[in-house]
Amino acid sequence: MAGALVLWQDVTGCTQAERELARYADDLRGSREQLGDVIEATGAGFYQIALERMEGTISRRGAEILGFATPEMPSLFEIMAEAQARMHPDDLQGVLGSFMTFVEAETERNEVEFRVRSLDGGWRWVLAISTSAKRNAAGRVVMLAGFLFDIDERKKAEAALRRSNEELQRFAYMASHDLQEPLRSLVSFSQLLERRYRGRLDSDADEYIAFIVEGGNRMQRLIEDLLRVSRVETTAKPLEPTNSTAVVADVERAMETSLREAGATLEAGDLPMVRADAAQLEQVFMNLIGNAIKYRHPDRPPAIRIAARRVGPMVQFAVQDNGIGIEPEYHDLIFEMFRRLHTHDEYEGTGIGLAVVLKIVERHGGKVWVESTPGEGSTFIFTLPAA
Ligand code: ADP
Repeated sequence: MAGALVLWQDVTGCTQAERELARYADDLRGSREQLGDVIEATGAGFYQIALERMEGTISRRGAEILGFATPEMPSLFEIMAEAQARMHPDDLQGVLGSFMTFVEAETERNEVEFRVRSLDGGWRWVLAISTSAKRNAAGRVVMLAGFLFDIDERKKAEAALRRSNEELQRFAYMASHDLQEPLRSLVSFSQLLERRYRGRLDSDADEYIAFIVEGGNRMQRLIEDLLRVSRVETTAKPLEPTNSTAVVADVERAMETSLREAGATLEAGDLPMVRADAAQLEQVFMNLIGNAIKYRHPDRPPAIRIAARRVGPMVQFAVQDNGIGIEPEYHDLIFEMFRRLHTHDEYEGTGIGLAVVLKIVERHGGKVWVESTPGEGSTFIFTLPAA
């Protein structure tokens, strides 16, 4: 009660506006402290640097992330010196360079990852995101604020994942590559057997030999397809402005025989320029058109239509057919490797075509999916960056 009285007496001399201002300042102080608490609760560190006055502050958690001895950092020089002393020598130049560009150029945000020495003598990854809080008339940053994140676990997990992916890929490549040679001789000798001894053993033997030849051929196709998946990475070329009309025209020429034999029509209007690896884009269209022919409806010849439209920074392609269609529950599964909805007797194939399409499209930063009505047809849609 007494406290309230004092406060009341205290402000009697103030004008209404001054009182408002005082309350606002209090609120601001309060919310800044609250903000600090919220930031620390996320596990992030916080720093603020006033370049004009050469002053800096860093939060307790920020000092901890950088491995500073004490969170008390009265001057900017001390912060800089301490940070430099703890930073990995290979990262130092990059961090300083990116920091200077940020201060001088008109970007609103600067992100940099670097390693700092950890207590056990190893290195820990840190991410610093700076934002310009204030610029002077010349556009130079005079005040900046930023966050520090401990990203060590994420970086190490990423590196481990990358390593195991590379290993797996090398393994798949080596295995399929090395299998090719013995398989080739197996297939050619069984073909020789088939040619020379047909009708000279008995009918069972003829049948068995035919099975061996057929199995060997299928295995060869499987291995070739596996290598095709590996090659999406190993033979990847940089993305360049690519004329998709020309790519589709090339594919149409290359597939002329199978299109003609199926009595198929292929319609593609003027398609836009995209940023792509042309050989891989060709592969995408080849696999999709090949499937449109293969999975055609028994009652009508395949009619394939290719269209494209711009959606934001991407071009969205649609390859539409009037084939057998795909049940909704399989719309995601069909993009998995070796996933097939049919047996060999129904349709030839290894279940790799759409997995390759997915891999290529993802390498281009795009997405692929299917829309389909069973019995009526399917439309495969994929996006690529516009050129
Ligand atoms: P494959 O054709 O060798 O089986 P894909 O990866 O190209 O392998 O296709 C996977 C499966 O998706 C196919 O087995 C088929 O069931 C289905 N599929 C692909 N394209 C079409 C299509 N245009 N129409 C109907 N089904 C399709």
